[in-house]
Amino acid sequence: MSDIGEYSFNLVFSALCPNCNELRPVKGSDKCPICSALLDVNTVAAIRKSIHKRRQAFKVRLSRLTQRMHEVTDGPLEFKSQGMPLKPEDHFTNVIVPAKQALLSLDEDVARIVNSQDWNPDQPNCIKAFTKLIRLLDDALAAVTALQETMPPLDWRAVHRELTRATASSVRGHIFMTLTISALDADEVTKVQTNGTLAFADAKEHIKRANGIVELAMRLPADGPFQADGSLDIASLTWSSIGNKSIPITRGAEIVRKAFSQIIGVSTLPDEQAVMLLPTLALGARAIDHTMVVELATSLREILDSPENT
Ligand SMILES: [Zn+2]
Repeated sequence: MSDIGEYSFNLVFSALCPNCNELRPVKGSDKCPICSALLDVNTVAAIRKSIHKRRQAFKVRLSRLTQRMHEVTDGPLEFKSQGMPLKPEDHFTNVIVPAKQALLSLDEDVARIVNSQDWNPDQPNCIKAFTKLIRLLDDALAAVTALQETMPPLDWRAVHRELTRATASSVRGHIFMTLTISALDADEVTKVQTNGTLAFADAKEHIKRANGIVELAMRLPADGPFQADGSLDIASLTWSSIGNKSIPITRGAEIVRKAFSQIIGVSTLPDEQAVMLLPTLALGARAIDHTMVVELATSLREILDSPENT
């Protein structure tokens, strides 16, 4: 799973400079952008022709897909929080497990199609492969929406959301990568592939979190103080580790600084300000959503920073 997005498009956007003896991107001029030597005329013409043909064949459909990608995956994602959820066992079997499997299969299927093609629309099976790729990505976007519209039981809410976020980011990554096919030049390739890599990194982060929560939930008794969420883990563990007794302010401040260490500035908050975030941490135990807890803490931090509090 950690190998998500590990494929590359077999497409040429650069030519060998006879002077530098290095591959150089083919841009507006026919010259090497570094040393200005003339690149091979035939190679440059062939590259431009391929790019033009691909854009003619694929650009419109890819633009439509990209637009849908933005509509569905530009965060923060919203989730259904009302309605009748499935029973926890059923939700795990019928929603969580298939969603994880779909994430894996999507990566494998996209990689297989990408590796099988050099995306020359004149080749007989190229259009077929392209159509299949687009359908896969379209369906994956629909799956994100379906997950958002599914009400999870409390036990699986955090995992459900993390998996949905992982799926959204993964599809986003694949779509950005696919834009390589209709890229105008090497610069555009760098741009879309950087966006793709960022989205894949985000997907991996959410998968890691989802897996961590599942592991925690499996390890702990269902009737224990722990819900299926990392932040509750911190709050409950801390509470039980101090024997459910009151603690000194300095210790409370330490807990907050550690729990919210990813928020800029929290690690250096003075004790009296840090303890003001404790209620948020406890609230996080009920919200059971890591991202939401961090968002809450971030907004509280802004209040703490306002002039009347300094
Ligand atoms: Zn050169």
